[in-house]
Amino acid sequence: AFPVVAIVGRPNVGKSALVNRILGRREAVVEDIPGVTRDRVTYPAIWNDRRFSLVDTGGWEPDARGIDRSVALQAEVAIELCDVVLFVVDSRVGATATDERVVQLLRRSNKPVFLVANKVDDSVQDPEVAALWSLGLGEPRAVSALHGRGVADLLDDVMKVL
Ligand code: GDP
Ligand code: MG
Repeated sequence: AFPVVAIVGRPNVGKSALVNRILGRREAVVEDIPGVTRDRVTYPAIWNDRRFSLVDTGGWEPDARGIDRSVALQAEVAIELCDVVLFVVDSRVGATATDERVVQLLRRSNKPVFLVANKVDDSVQDPEVAALWSLGLGEPRAVSALHGRGVADLLDDVMKVL
């Protein structure tokens, strides 16, 4: 089996947009309405001639369990089954309580984690990116899934730990 890279994070941070950017085609559903990706979807992916499985997560449904619990559950399952985690946060929103909860799960697992600060469409957002050091997951990696900025560098580094 190929190594597994899981993309976790809150709804609407751009996980599916990042999946499409990595795949080089629009396969994962990107939506302005949070919660479109149900549960987990696995895509065969390749970068620098190396094959891996890319797992997109979602699964939020507006039920009584609440969004926070749903995100945490999805993250927990994805972290368990993967070799590397891409934890995506929205640089424009900053770290939320739900993000902090996922960080706790990530700390408990011993999987390598890349903190991905998405929606950095230009360098005006550098201060927002720097603020994400506070999550304690190391260097926040600024990317724009929409425009592709930073994604190649990120994947080059992901391949080094696969
Ligand atoms: P998911 O719920 O985490 O899978 O998020 P989606 O990939 O569905 O994206 C949610 C929204 O954020 C959509 O409206 C996307 O177009 C937007 N989005 C995703 N990535 C970026 C980005 O890099 N820059 C900007 N400006 N918007 C983005
Ligand atoms: Mg999605």
